Parts: sequence; C-alpha cells; structure tokens
Amino acid sequence: MQVVKPGKLLINNEWCEAESGKRFSVTNPATEQKLTDVAEGDAADVNRAVKAARRAFESGPWKTMSARERGRIINRIAILLDKHKEEFAELETLNNGKPISETRNADLPLSIETFEYYAGLADKIHGDTIPVSGNFFNYTLREPAGVVGQIIPWNFPLLMAAWKLGPALATGCTVVLKPAEQTPLTALKLGEIAIEAGLPAGVLNIIPGYGPTAGAAIATHPDVDKVAFTGSTEVGKIVMQLAGANLKRVSLELGGKAPNIVFADSDIEAAVNGAMRGIFFNQGEVCCAGSRLFLEEKIHDEFLSKLKTRVEKMIVGNPLDPKTQMGAQVSEEQFKKILGYIDQGKKEGATVLTGGAPAQPKGYFVKPTILEGVNNNMTVAREEIFGPVVCAIAFKNHDDLCRQANDTVYGLSAGIWTRDIGKAHRLAKEIKAGTIWINCYNCFDAASPFGGFKQSGFGRELGKYALELYTQVKSVWVSLD
Ligand code: NAP
Ligand code: MG
Repeated sequence: MQVVKPGKLLINNEWCEAESGKRFSVTNPATEQKLTDVAEGDAADVNRAVKAARRAFESGPWKTMSARERGRIINRIAILLDKHKEEFAELETLNNGKPISETRNADLPLSIETFEYYAGLADKIHGDTIPVSGNFFNYTLREPAGVVGQIIPWNFPLLMAAWKLGPALATGCTVVLKPAEQTPLTALKLGEIAIEAGLPAGVLNIIPGYGPTAGAAIATHPDVDKVAFTGSTEVGKIVMQLAGANLKRVSLELGGKAPNIVFADSDIEAAVNGAMRGIFFNQGEVCCAGSRLFLEEKIHDEFLSKLKTRVEKMIVGNPLDPKTQMGAQVSEEQFKKILGYIDQGKKEGATVLTGGAPAQPKGYFVKPTILEGVNNNMTVAREEIFGPVVCAIAFKNHDDLCRQANDTVYGLSAGIWTRDIGKAHRLAKEIKAGTIWINCYNCFDAASPFGGFKQSGFGRELGKYALELYTQVKSVWVSLD
C-alpha cells in the first residue's frame, strides 16, 4: 500500500506551507488512524492564491493560448489520471472510506471521462451572429467568467474536483479550489498531475483548509468573479450570502431527499437492485441518494422482504478488499449524525427492519439500514441523513404519490420503477427535480447535466450546460454604414 505523504498548498504551481504554519491531520475513517498532515490554508493563503489566479487569467500563456491547446492540456490531465488510476483509487478509499470496487469502477472512470469530455469541448465554445434590425452586424463572444472559487465536499473528493475543473479550465477560467477538510488528498494529487500535464502557473491553485476560514475567504474575496459550491444546503445559503459582498456569480449543488418510486407493475427484481444502488452506493453519502423509497401498497410487504434479504447479505467492512460492498462513513461526526437520525426515526414511530447500528467495533461503519413505516412528515423523511438509511413509505395511487414525492424542500433527483412507459414519462414531468431515472438509478455521464430544483441549488454541472456557469456573453455591434 502506498505511503501517504504530507500535503501542502498549491499556489502558482508551487507547493508551500500555510502562512500561519498550521497543519491539520487527515484520518482513515475505516481504521480511525491518522493518515497524514496537510497544510491548513486560511484567508491569507486564499489571498495569495487569488492573486496568482488573477495574474494567470489576465496575462501569460493561459490567456493567449488557443482553445485547442487548452483542450490538449486538459486531455493530458485525463491521460495522466488514467495512468495513475490505481494509486488514486487507493488513496481515495483510504481517505474517504468508500469501497475500492467503487473508486475503481465509478470515481476514477467518471473523473477521467469528465476531463476527456471537456478537453474535447474546449475548442467548440463560441458565440453567435444575430440578425438584428438596422444596418448592423451583431455578434456575441463567449468569454471566460474570470477567477473562479470552487468549494467541494468530501463524498466524491476527486470526482467533484473533476466536475468543477473540467468546464472551468475548458472555458479559460483560472481557479482557487478548496477541497473538504476531511478529504483533501486526491485533489492535491490531481494538482501534481495538472502541473505535469502542462497547466501554466496560477491556473489551478488548491487550498485545503476549513470552511469558515478558507472557504469563507474564497466566497467573500472581492477579486473572485464566480463561486461554485457543492455541499449542504445550510452552508450553500451562507456561501450565497458571502458571495453577495461583490455580487459574484454563484452556482450551488446542494442536498437532496430523493423519492425512489416503485409501482406494483415494475420489474420487482430490477427495482430491488435499484433501491440498493440508490441508497447504499457510497455508504449513502450521496446528494442524489434514493433515500425515500415509495412503495405502492400492493407490493409493499413483498418488496421489503426481498430488499431485507438482499441487504442482510451485503459485505460491509474493509474498504480496500475488492469484495467489500459498503465501506466506512467519512468521519466520526457523520457516523454519529446517522445513528442519531436512526434514533430520531424510532422515536417518531418508524421501525428498524434491519441494520440500525454500528457494523464494526472499530471504524465508522454503519449497518445498511431499512426504516419501515415511515411517513413523509417524519424528520428522517424530511432531512438529509447522508448515510445508508432508506426510509420506506407506502403510497396508494398516483395523486397520493405525486403529492408526497414533491412535498420536500429538495429537488435534486428521483427514480421511477414501472413497466408502464406512459406513466413513467408523465411522472418524469410532474416531479420537481433536476434528474429523473426511469428503471435505473445513480447513472452519470460527463455529457448529461446534473443539478437541482428548489433548495437543492441552481446551475447545471456537466455537459454543455456547465459552460453557462463559467462563461459570460458579450454582445458586439458593428455599424455597416
Ligand atoms: P458542508 O459543510 O456543506 O461542506 C461543503 C464544503 O463547504 C466543504 O469544503 C466545507 O469546508 C465548506 N464550508 C463549510 N462551511 C463553510 C463556510 N462558512 N463558507 C464557505 N465554505 C464552507 O458539508 P459537510 O460539513 O462536509 O457535511 C455536512 C452535511 O452536508 C452532510 O451531513 C450532508 O448532509 C451534507 N452534504 C451534502 C453534500 C451534497 O453533495 N449535497 C455533500 C457533502 C455533504 P469543510 O471542509 O471545513 O467542512
Ligand atoms: Mg463541514
């Protein structure tokens, strides 16, 4: 297994300590043991990073290089990521606790394809010519947004960095990235690769540190033009307020409480698989997790009995073992929070059908858990648990289902399981959420947009849609007289 070296800040393509000299420790959540130390950036370091990003944006090779050359550098990042994918997968698993089978088969391939996709898109970003009235030639330029601050969470540390960096780099922005305090290691390793790929100094700066210090400094900094945030709705609201200081543009990808809806006419075996994938992927630490499992009354009991059998066979444990299906929660805080929600569910009348307790004496492992008899007004059905806890809710008919599915402050995603294709498409329109999965769940592709309705945020990441986040449009008028 690789030795985890201490982490530093990346500013202007140089690795450095924080000005304060402070460091914080990073833990392996599966063993509760310290992995390494990382430099703890704060406002002073963010300031240095923003200066470097501004310089790189206004002058130097990044500004003058052709879009195609930018694309080539992004593609080299993809190639190097692919070359080192096994080290990245192992490091992510050590730091986050997620199973190696998932880092190998989901986090890494999706991160690589994101850089590939935006490498290809870099030289296809352009304005329009517009047939205005009068004797004028009018055209638009699509210009980069500028210096971009990106604040990301701990659940998909490398993948969230890829989703943010791909479009920002393709459009010609420069970046100050803050990984989550729990999981800075793969983002820092990505910084090494970016330098090797030829990214000019100052284009990507990485400042590990805490949210209220480093994160808030990015959100308030007067010379940051745009901030992109993924994390909790609670912190998203703070970031938006802080960003108001200089009216910087904001995009937010926040929490969810997705309905995963199973009709009696569905392929039940496929739906059981989908329910498992929906909630236990990444230990349930997924913003679009299918955490509210709506079951049509007719199949409720049969479905839960099948699901219970499957859940009890899941292999929970050592995240580095390729056979492991569910690893450790990211931190003690998250572990306790999840167990607290399970208790709250019981107090409010839900029953633990299976799980509901720690899975191992050491490490932050929670048993995959089914809560039965949940109603949509209980705390466990309203708040994001962010753990391997599925809330089963029975429904009577289409109207009853639709009302309950949409009765949430969130709107990130939904799953629909039915063989009735008309019903599926009607419901896909009726549900207020940014992604709808019909007879599938947790499917992603760099080309397909992702983002929220309501308090799940705004702005769309991935695909061509993400270019809107990182560009601004300029209208140029030319008199033809
Ligand atoms: P979070 O606090 O929202 O963290 C997201 C990012 O924002 C982290 O980098 C965090 O820094 C930073 N941050 C925190 N406070 C900030 C502030 N005042 N100004 C600027 N940036 C700030 O999420 P978390 O603490 O990692 O997890 C808390 C809960 O959020 C979870 O239990 C879960 O429910 C939810 N969550 C949702 C998502 C999602 O994708 N929707 C992802 C992760 C977590 P630190 O590293 O210091 O925290
Ligand atoms: Mg936090």
